[in-house]
Amino acid sequence: MAITGSNGKTTTTSLIYHILVTGGLDAALVGNIGESFARQVALDPRPVYVVEVSSFQLDDISTFRPDIAVLTNITEDHLDRYDYNFENYIRSKFRIIENQKTGDYFIYNMDDEVTMRYIEQFKINSNQLPISMAHENNGAFIKDGEMYVRTGDDFMSMSVYDFTLKGKHNQYNTMAGSLAGTTMEIRKEKIREAVQTFQNLEHRMEHVATIRGVEFINDSKATNINSTWYALESMDKPTVLVLGGVDKGNDYSLLMDMVKEKVKAIVCLGLDNQKIHAAFDSVVPVIVDTASAQEAVTAAFSYSEKGDVVLLSPGCASFDLFKNYEDRGTQFKKAVIEL
Ligand code: ADP
Repeated sequence: MAITGSNGKTTTTSLIYHILVTGGLDAALVGNIGESFARQVALDPRPVYVVEVSSFQLDDISTFRPDIAVLTNITEDHLDRYDYNFENYIRSKFRIIENQKTGDYFIYNMDDEVTMRYIEQFKINSNQLPISMAHENNGAFIKDGEMYVRTGDDFMSMSVYDFTLKGKHNQYNTMAGSLAGTTMEIRKEKIREAVQTFQNLEHRMEHVATIRGVEFINDSKATNINSTWYALESMDKPTVLVLGGVDKGNDYSLLMDMVKEKVKAIVCLGLDNQKIHAAFDSVVPVIVDTASAQEAVTAAFSYSEKGDVVLLSPGCASFDLFKNYEDRGTQFKKAVIEL
């Protein structure tokens, strides 16, 4: 089983692994996450592999053929690696189904505009299983707060309020994961149990602490604008947004409506914040520049009041100021705890 997409790969992959293991399968979690696939096969082969694959890995496949392929979504990312041509990146993602045959499965998000715009252009031999929040279908869908997932000729259902993964984007990830689980014939009780016990991963919408009524959330893994959009979308309190880093070709206007609606201040955390200022100076009352996690946290705290949330969801890569996104998230959390 292989999982790719612009966002949600690791969450979906980890959830699927958790579902399969809860269901009693002897699976290994490999690829972009954890051990390399080849190393696992060579040293400790298992009956089932759950493989996270990035577009860079898909660029070099020749015979790679997952029994179940999952494409979470496609949004602009890594354009610097694809000659700033979005279509090259899209084609790369779709290679996950290139070698699939009848009897294999392809799980995709039918609410994702880019996926749907391109899906017709590829020859798909596998069984298509969509997920959606807008349309009932023969894969998985959410309607009135209830998730329905196809199990053979039947559907299982479960309340979205029982998911441990919160936020709309995670409802998509949970649909994809549960559908992959039923396709592997995991019993519905086991899928329910797994979805209710899955622990969210570090640096992904991770609650850090609430200090004098201000909640701090670490979403350091949000390294593109789409992730930041989803993070903001799930905010229900006035938000101080910590944004910035190394921009991979961001179009900040995509955030404009969310920012207008929810963001009271922006704390830039990066060496070059010009694009952020250009986009938001006229709409957000406070925008400041900082160059360390500690400075960012102190500034964000000073602009917030009881009932607000400080959200680190940078929409950018981290290597101007940090080793990687984990380092950024860890330093952010440390600075919050030391406030
Ligand atoms: P990836 O491995 O593809 O980078 P992750 O599962 O690590 O994705 O999630 C990274 C970030 O992307 C999360 O913190 C969240 O902000 C956002 N995200 C997760 N799932 C989705 C989704 N289905 N759609 C949009 N954004 C998502």
